[in-house]
Amino acid sequence: MQHASNLIDPFGRRVDYLRVSVTDRCDFRCVYCMSSDMTFLPHGDLLTLEELDRLCGAFIRRGVRRIRISGGEPLVRRGIMALFRSLKTYLDDGSLDEVTLTTNGSQLTRYADELAACGVRRINVSLDSLDADKFKAITRTGSLDKVLAGIDAAVRAGLKVKINAVALRDVNEFELGDMLAWAHGRGFDMTLIETMPLGEIDGDRLTQYLPLTEARAQLARRFTLDETNYRTGGPARYVTVRETGGRLGFITPMTHNFCESCNRVRVTCTGTVYMCLGQEDKVDLRAPLRASEGDDLLDAAILKAIAHKPRGHDFVIDRTGIPSVKGRHMNTTGG
Ligand code: SAM
Repeated sequence: MQHASNLIDPFGRRVDYLRVSVTDRCDFRCVYCMSSDMTFLPHGDLLTLEELDRLCGAFIRRGVRRIRISGGEPLVRRGIMALFRSLKTYLDDGSLDEVTLTTNGSQLTRYADELAACGVRRINVSLDSLDADKFKAITRTGSLDKVLAGIDAAVRAGLKVKINAVALRDVNEFELGDMLAWAHGRGFDMTLIETMPLGEIDGDRLTQYLPLTEARAQLARRFTLDETNYRTGGPARYVTVRETGGRLGFITPMTHNFCESCNRVRVTCTGTVYMCLGQEDKVDLRAPLRASEGDDLLDAAILKAIAHKPRGHDFVIDRTGIPSVKGRHMNTTGG
């Protein structure tokens, strides 16, 4: 497929990675992500799966090579496999290198085989504890057994699994070493993520926040962490764990600014493109998408968005507990 023109932002960064949130709904209510009484969007506000496909197609024609499907929980969106099936056509004709998925794992027993058949090769599974009670306390509604069964199904289907865990002070802080040993024992890379101040939640972010410098220092007492240049195209910095041979990634939006190499934009399930996870700048793509059957208006809106991609973000978790991005939870923008 011909690229009309590549998406280069004002700082010379090529945007070739699109993250698409296909729903704001989730079957979990993770304490750091959502409040217990979330109000979700009316279904009518969401882009249809056909519109999501059209939108992805417009980005692909402009040079996007990788798409990650996220949410909310992407696999709770009704009929979601239709989107994966249509994205497969771009993989088949070589205009897309990769379609990946970020999931909480709860629906993988049902969908792992079909995802693999649609050309998905690797998935990230978010898993913050291997202790069933703790897992329940973090997710409020999740079942560890179900997620572990989902991970098994993904492995059987041939999907490469990476485990993502949010590091939480006093919650999984002292379990991270055991989780790492488990993940690497199963051949999964693991990435630790710092909590980001997105949206109002019930708890206090300052008490949840565990800087990864601390988590790393603690892990370094048990494991030998060797620096590596390995990158997956995402924001994680990796070390190799000498004892296991596996990789451990650190995503540190709070303690380390990784914006200089940012290659992505995020589209919400309502068709709003956010050019930076940590900034409010956004451009609506739904109106131009719905205004005509041709893609000229949509294309112009995408170019406008890229032209306004900010240099970077500046999250702050201060003692007021007031998040720096107040109105938007992670489930809106997609993790
Ligand atoms: N439901 C899917 C999942 O669980 O992976 C995809 C969406 S979820 C919002 C994506 C990732 O964002 C998860 O790993 C989740 O733990 C993480 N996340 C959610 N809120 C966060 C926050 N405030 N700070 C850091 N990570 C967060």
